Amino acid sequence: MLSIKSIKKDIIAVCRLMYEKGYISATDGNVSVRFQKHEMLITATGTHKGLLKEEDIIVTDLEGNRISGQKKPSSEIMMHLKVYEKCKGISAVIHAHPPICTAISLTNSSIPTTFTPEVYISFGRKIPVARYATPSTSEVPEAISEFLPDFKALLLARHGTLTMGKNLWDAFYRLEKMENAAHVFLLAKHLGGAEPIAEEKLKLLDQLFH
Ligand SMILES: [Zn+2]
Repeated sequence: MLSIKSIKKDIIAVCRLMYEKGYISATDGNVSVRFQKHEMLITATGTHKGLLKEEDIIVTDLEGNRISGQKKPSSEIMMHLKVYEKCKGISAVIHAHPPICTAISLTNSSIPTTFTPEVYISFGRKIPVARYATPSTSEVPEAISEFLPDFKALLLARHGTLTMGKNLWDAFYRLEKMENAAHVFLLAKHLGGAEPIAEEKLKLLDQLFH
């Protein structure tokens, strides 16, 4: 079992990577990690994720009540709580605004996953788009609810991404792969488009990897 101290270290490292990779700017984004059975650590609202400090991470219970920390938890806390409520195997949640995924989310279309085997193996048949929801309101957990616990990566329409994982690094790798898949797809589109992998080859990947 990881200590609160080591989870905070990991959250700071992941937030810095997200900032350096351009997945968030200024105070955007939020990250949480489930701790033991009934608590979570979550980034505080209004904090710069590239410069995050230990005191910028709050401990709450799984109803969102603050247990320790001076600051206010992220304004998207309800989205994180909804994931932990519906997904028993998930222990970390990352919300970010990576530019290519976010641009695709403006068109309300999903990121295709059937163009390269790696993306298909990682994400299956689709990375769905949750309908537009006003940030920080109960519309957000309502919009993501229908995709839980089946999907570990979602686009949030006109907003950004939500990735989940069995631990924080698992959720971060999923975010990295998702933005990379979106980028490659966009480049292929500019080059004149691409065909998906043939159905029988997808079935073979299913047999081997899913
Ligand atoms: Zn956001």
